[in-house]
Amino acid sequence: MLWSGWGDPAKAAELPPPVRRLLADLLGVRMPETPAATLDEVRPPASTLPPAALKALSAAVGEEYLRADDETRIRHTRGKSTPDLLRMRAGDASDAPDAVVLPGSHDEVAEVLRVCAEHRVAVVPFGGGTSVVGGLVAARDGFAGVVALDVARLGRLVSVDAESMVAEFEPGVRAPEAERLLAEHGFTLGHFPQSFEYATLGGFAAARSSGQASAGYGRFDDMVVGLTVATPQGTLDLGRAPKSAAGPDLRQVILGSEGAFGVITSLRLRVRPVPEVRAYEGWRFASFPAGVAALRRLAQEGAAPTVLRLSDETETMVGLARPEELGTFASEPGCLVIAGYEGTPGDVAYRRERAAATLTETGGVPLGPEPGEKWAHGRYSAPYLRDSLLAAGATVETLETACFWSGLPRLYEAVREALTASLGSPLIMCHVSHVYETGASLYFTVVTAQSDDPVAQWESAKGAVTDAIGQAGGTVSHHHGVGRDHLGAYALEIGELGVAVLRGVKERLDPDGILNPGILIS
Ligand SMILES: Cc1cc2nc3c(=O)[nH]c(=O)nc-3n(C[C@H](O)[C@H](O)[C@H](O)COP(=O)(O)OP(=O)(O)OC[C@H]3O[C@@H](n4cnc5c(N)ncnc54)[C@H](O)[C@@H]3O)c2cc1C
Repeated sequence: MLWSGWGDPAKAAELPPPVRRLLADLLGVRMPETPAATLDEVRPPASTLPPAALKALSAAVGEEYLRADDETRIRHTRGKSTPDLLRMRAGDASDAPDAVVLPGSHDEVAEVLRVCAEHRVAVVPFGGGTSVVGGLVAARDGFAGVVALDVARLGRLVSVDAESMVAEFEPGVRAPEAERLLAEHGFTLGHFPQSFEYATLGGFAAARSSGQASAGYGRFDDMVVGLTVATPQGTLDLGRAPKSAAGPDLRQVILGSEGAFGVITSLRLRVRPVPEVRAYEGWRFASFPAGVAALRRLAQEGAAPTVLRLSDETETMVGLARPEELGTFASEPGCLVIAGYEGTPGDVAYRRERAAATLTETGGVPLGPEPGEKWAHGRYSAPYLRDSLLAAGATVETLETACFWSGLPRLYEAVREALTASLGSPLIMCHVSHVYETGASLYFTVVTAQSDDPVAQWESAKGAVTDAIGQAGGTVSHHHGVGRDHLGAYALEIGELGVAVLRGVKERLDPDGILNPGILIS
């Protein structure tokens, strides 16, 4: 993983000259005057960890699994939001942890937490490091230092209960490895977020992730049937049946807790058979509202596709155009729906036929498999393009929300208006990517020219959009989480009493407040 960008450097995407010209002509994008910092130019601040804490941490995990070198600290600094990357590109490693610990077992995690509580050291659980909401930037005030607790060594598939279709994993398994290990048993998780290549199972649970095939396989929190969590006050072992009437479901307290209540050290996950058939196709709708109405019917009538997404006019136009055509793309593309079906041949044929009838009835025009295959082929490539856009002087960032169907048009307009008011004339693209019987999520991608202070520029726009989302009745996050960036909006969303309930849980599990201070709740 690039320390100041995304993914495998070998997969870096070059911006074709017509795209560069278009960015300059349409958005006024200019090359930044200062080139991005190189790794050896970046210096994290001097470590503040007391020697006694370092000694105790080394004893807890073994000397070789306590790292305090500059490169390891830099590679555990922040997550992968655009402001995170802009700060790293500017050589700012001021949020670097003082050290990184890599425990190899649940007991070692528990011991690290004990040591950190004793020495008042803040702990940031670190999975794949792909948070886009500041979920890895803990507050330092009042602490002797900050350590990142990297779960990379907790990387095993522990067991597969094929009869129940439940697999137990350690939290540091990355999504591709989880799929590879499960495939040996004929199973899949079916969780394919755009961060698939790097994010971990523990991170998915901690941040309530949702993947591109959520219409068929469900969100990640739907897949979790059991959890083991190490907290400074002991171990929580949750989930002994798929559903239970034995009181409130404490699994739900841990899902989405973003490392503020404990470290997930084991997950029991519902798995599905590897699909025999995968078929993706495209449909065209005349307008975004027409497409939204079609998706709502699909979600409410049942037998929905496994993958279902609808791009608005702008996203459709940008996605359909070839780079050399972009400047002159004048036709009316309408709005593209991608429908994907995964399962047995019989199940795929049945759902495809039913969905096709609904899509046709609601005004859809079939485009055949090509747009679907193209989407499936490029589904993980956008983050690589972001690095090239940042280097070229454009800010590109995504944000997401959700609400009930009846509020969706208002929410869509509110976000666009707030972005336009804040950024001038940015390029705003949107898609509906996760649908439910009662509502859906909206996922926006924004491109604008970088100002002299692109971090402040984006933070101001993001603040305006977050307010607009709240006023329009949307949630501050459908799947990215709260982190630091959404702290205030989340508090407004759940209200004072809601925050007090979470504080009560935090105080019982983590009385010294060492776990991710300043993340999730203040
Ligand atoms: C390019 C890109 C595309 C993305 N696409 C999607 C997408 O399609 N869908 C989606 O849902 N998200 C997406 N994300 C966001 C991100 O990938 C998810 O939030 C993911 O769940 C984070 O997993 P991670 O392993 O990287 O966790 P991290 O980023 O390491 O951690 C996330 C949070 O969880 C905590 N945490 C991590 N591991 C544990 C643990 N074992 N126990 C307790 N707390 C823990 C951390 O302290 C942090 O607060 C995307 C991010 C990027 C950069």
